[in-house]
Amino acid sequence: MWVESINVAKKWMEDRLKGDDGFSKYMDNKKSFIDEKKIWKCLKENRDPSPSKIRSIMDEVLQNKDCISLEDCAAILNVKNEDLWKEIFHTASIVKKQVYDNRIVTFAPLYCSNYCVNNCLYCAFRRENSVEIRRRLTLDEVKKEAEILAKMGHKRLITSYGEHPLSDVNYIANTLKAIYSVRVKGKRGGRGEIRRVNVNAAPMTVEELEILRDVGIGTFQVFQETYHMKTYSEVHPPDTIKGNYFWRLYCMHRALEAGVDDVGIGVLLGLFDWRFEVLALLSHALELEEKFGIGPHTVSFPRLRPAANTPFVQNSAYKVSDEDFMKFIATVRIAIPYTGMILTAREPEHIRRRVIHLGVTQTDFGSKIGIGSYRESYNEQEAEKQQFILGDTRELDEGVRWLAEMGYIVSFCTAGYRCGRTGIRIMKLLKTGKEKIFCKLNAILTYKEYLEDFASDETREIGTKILSREIEEVKKLVPERTFEKLMEYLSRIEDGERDIYF
Ligand code: SAM
Ligand code: SF4
Repeated sequence: MWVESINVAKKWMEDRLKGDDGFSKYMDNKKSFIDEKKIWKCLKENRDPSPSKIRSIMDEVLQNKDCISLEDCAAILNVKNEDLWKEIFHTASIVKKQVYDNRIVTFAPLYCSNYCVNNCLYCAFRRENSVEIRRRLTLDEVKKEAEILAKMGHKRLITSYGEHPLSDVNYIANTLKAIYSVRVKGKRGGRGEIRRVNVNAAPMTVEELEILRDVGIGTFQVFQETYHMKTYSEVHPPDTIKGNYFWRLYCMHRALEAGVDDVGIGVLLGLFDWRFEVLALLSHALELEEKFGIGPHTVSFPRLRPAANTPFVQNSAYKVSDEDFMKFIATVRIAIPYTGMILTAREPEHIRRRVIHLGVTQTDFGSKIGIGSYRESYNEQEAEKQQFILGDTRELDEGVRWLAEMGYIVSFCTAGYRCGRTGIRIMKLLKTGKEKIFCKLNAILTYKEYLEDFASDETREIGTKILSREIEEVKKLVPERTFEKLMEYLSRIEDGERDIYF
């Protein structure tokens, strides 16, 4: 029985740590950067902020694109007047436009293994969930799943793994290599391939993260789930590896030390007070900026979803309403203006439509979250045992069209990490608005590829209009030489060349 391996797993963890707790060396005077007392104090002392104070905080963000202070963030979170919230939503959408323009990056998840030694109360993969079917994909199966996704037109994936010796760093590294080796033919022509693989996995040691850096990891994502320590230990039993709050809290410090420059943080909404979590996320961003000069590449904010044999989800006392979800997104957008924000297909279409304008920069389509779930033979019985239930299962092509109808261009760009636009460099480019131009050019090129190789006729029709509008816009923004180069690249794509970028 695989559960017997929990003791093996504990030994595995102890051997990896070799006495290093993984966090104390980063702490100033043994004090964590999550200061719960300070967070509560900020919320208490900034009650009833005046509209003029909120407007001046927003004006400053629009000017500087720097993170705001915890006090200012608490003031926004304490706004009660719904008309003022409308102004905050509007500002959030302007910040998004200023930093990321009208682009939405898209991706799909690829679940590789659900063996897990942890026991997170909200997750169907928890070790005590006896109804779960345990599987780990072989590397050949990983490749087949990636081929299916590449044939849809995806260029970016996020792989996901439970925490277990069966999915240790070597397995993870091998899955990345398998995915990067994929080459397929596009539906209409051209070729498909996965050019960026982000990883959502358990925290790792610096040495392990160096292995992932060397195989070309995109973003390393780990969500703290909740930054509130008491709640954390209630939902992550202390006899598990994930039960160690600080090992998880400092995992992005280790990633940055290992040279994995793009790190993604997040919270699982529904575990604790969302206002507390916003201030904690901001504290995390400020800490990483202070220590490494690099803030989070992305912030994720999944909301709890129903999961097989997981009663915790229904009973949660901190469910986040749709209105509060909107406030959460807008506040994070304003508080950490440079960060990417990921909205997932956990949310149903009508919610995605409502919140996407508030600052979202990335979203997934065509997603399936079972182990091996993209293959045709994946059956309903297996689907019932997924990690949780998705709210939106629309295919990528429909998603691209849906976004085009709302005026967004989907970016499949993966140039950033391949030409060194990560870490401190990208922070500067984002804050000065220069990244926007690189991204706009690369979005045009990758969108063109998608329309050439994968789009349905319907999507191609509306996509072509979006593309022409983008080209017109970019003409006014870039030097003549750059524009000529763009046009040359576009005609090379029409002639069959692929993966050209600025
Ligand atoms: N094992 C890795 C870990 O725990 O970090 C990866 C886990 S999983 C693929 C990624 C995220 O899914 C978790 O960090 C958690 O936030 C989220 N998740 C787990 N159960 C969920 C549920 N019932 N509803 C929504 N999101 C959930
Ligand atoms: Fe395991 Fe991650 Fe699920 Fe927790 S959230 S049970 S660590 S897969």
